[in-house]
Amino acid sequence: MTEPIESFAALNLPAPLLSALAEVGYETPSPIQAACIPLFMAGRDLLGEAQTGTGKTAAFALPLLARLDLNLKAPQALVLTPTRELAIQVAEAFQKYAHHMPGFHVLPIYGGQSMVIQLRALSRGAHIIVGTPGRVMDHLERKSLDLSNLKSLVLDEADEMLRMGFIDDVEWILEHTPAARQTALFSATMPDPIRRIAQRYLREPEQVKIRSATTTVAAIKQKYWQVRGADKLEALTRMLEIEEDFDAAIIFVRTKLATVDLADKLEARGYAAAALSGDLTQGLREQVIDRLKSGSLDIVVATDVAARGIDVPRVSHVINYDVPYDTEAYVHRIGRTGRAGRAGVAILFISPREMRMLKAIERATRQPIEPIALPTRGEVAERRVTQFKQQILDTIAEENLDFFYEVVRRMETEESVATRQIAAALAFLAQRERPLRPDGMEDPVASSRTESPYAVPSRGAPSRAVPSPRGESSYAASSAPTFDKPAWSERSEAAERKPRAEAPKRAFSASGVTVRYRIEVGKNQGALPKEIVGAIANEGGIDGKLIGQINLFDDYSTVELPELPNDLLETLKRTRVRQLPLRIRPAAPGEGEKTFARRPRADEAPKARRPREDEAARPRRPANADFSARPKREFSDAGSGGNKPPYRADKKPAGTKPPFDKPFAKRKER
Ligand code: AMP
Repeated sequence: MTEPIESFAALNLPAPLLSALAEVGYETPSPIQAACIPLFMAGRDLLGEAQTGTGKTAAFALPLLARLDLNLKAPQALVLTPTRELAIQVAEAFQKYAHHMPGFHVLPIYGGQSMVIQLRALSRGAHIIVGTPGRVMDHLERKSLDLSNLKSLVLDEADEMLRMGFIDDVEWILEHTPAARQTALFSATMPDPIRRIAQRYLREPEQVKIRSATTTVAAIKQKYWQVRGADKLEALTRMLEIEEDFDAAIIFVRTKLATVDLADKLEARGYAAAALSGDLTQGLREQVIDRLKSGSLDIVVATDVAARGIDVPRVSHVINYDVPYDTEAYVHRIGRTGRAGRAGVAILFISPREMRMLKAIERATRQPIEPIALPTRGEVAERRVTQFKQQILDTIAEENLDFFYEVVRRMETEESVATRQIAAALAFLAQRERPLRPDGMEDPVASSRTESPYAVPSRGAPSRAVPSPRGESSYAASSAPTFDKPAWSERSEAAERKPRAEAPKRAFSASGVTVRYRIEVGKNQGALPKEIVGAIANEGGIDGKLIGQINLFDDYSTVELPELPNDLLETLKRTRVRQLPLRIRPAAPGEGEKTFARRPRADEAPKARRPREDEAARPRRPANADFSARPKREFSDAGSGGNKPPYRADKKPAGTKPPFDKPFAKRKER
């Protein structure tokens, strides 16, 4: 990698893009952006080894936009993505960066969305197409997509496309686009088939790889929390309450806007927090750091650049609220704690899609990173009660209470009330600012009362997720700049679905039983195996590797799956393919035993060509193969889960925690 480039302006991006980047609050280019953008702008082919979270989308989207001819309303760039969710995300990123490019059009096209809508949108014209391989191929065959003006082609998450069985379609598309195009291939890993594609279709590509030097961070205890849903703020505040030995924290986010937004939200919740971004003058920056040193601030929310070099020994925690771009940035970040011989804790918030980064960090820091569960509300409440009791004991031990004993004694005699009643009323008054039992929380002291209607979850009990997100959304949602949403972003069926990233993957290791299920879409409805795989994997959070043989019949199909729990069965009943609910149920005996033989669809002219995506989703077999003995669908193990089951149930961190020694008053007085 090249030396760090400090600004987007230094990358010669045009003014409209620089304005949009300023609005979204990007401070500096991420390493992959700094490396790729100049090469891309110079027209070079690129082979980028980068995973989600490194900023790779902007690394290709910005230079593609910079080189776009807005007057030519024909596809000039094509981005292929493995899933429709990613296609939509990438298209939204283009839209965001092109906010000041009037007339710009990006169009996502993916399987499962109505052809009519896509044909109409294509006929209106678009500058950039982002699509899944199968659907792009369909449009090329129908001639509804004309790529004769194509200048650049990007393969995003190429290893995922391989894993999902789309690589033949990708090659077919590569062969049907202008030979003079610029090609960029991004992949988190470089398995041999991907390298072969790069060798065959890229011209003297520049290789860009994110550096991952190994470092020792022995004094720092590293943990991660897998983000489910968007309520990172709720998770953060619970962790801040429950973390032991908490003194001060630096919380890392990606954008300047996010520093201010998150610091404001923490302040509103009573924390002494401030933002630190490259926008502050040197004087103001020093003021913030001095306040952190002196204890008038407990939390600083910072970007990587702004936090560089901070040396404040009382920083006990580093929270990676947004994932770092690379392992090097991570090591810099966590080096802000564990200073001057003290212990430090680093917590990483990471989404399922970013799990590869976790593995890379474990390798780079040569330490396993321990998963932690979201503290339950009950645990938070319990911690508050413990602190409260400790405050009372400290006050009894340290203060002269003679005058107050007398007040209580007089009250007992004059008002005929018991000491316990007075104490309870005082406790009530004392906790009003910061309730011991905040809204909806379980009763934290109930376990010590035999008559209690409440049950207190113990520290060792399995943790539950946030029951329902509060009205407030996390900063990421609320601070995102608004841009005019194109029609596709509202209309698409997939957009209404939970993004793949958020659907926890299930491992089904328990029973190991495989069941053949029947679903009510088949060949006549135009269903393709890869759509079925996509829908079941995305909506059910089932690892694609666990989806077995799929047989298509005229009006239904069968699919082999691990035995599904009832809740999941209910979800999948409503899941749609080709706009039809799957209405999944266990197949009757004998149902689905016919073998799969693909007939050309009515709208398909018979032709000799590469096998299509529906075939690509399964292992290839010779024409005379014995299909009755067909093995389960298999994918190479390039998935994000590594050796661990991809779905981690809410596991508790090892060990129980001693009572919080941080006094109640540590939070900012308001
Ligand atoms: P990606 O790796 O492309 O999926 O990007 C991950 C996240 O990083 C997205 O939310 C982007 O908006 C964000 N991001 C990308 N580049 C930057 C940057 N230079 N500064 C701050 N955030 C960024």
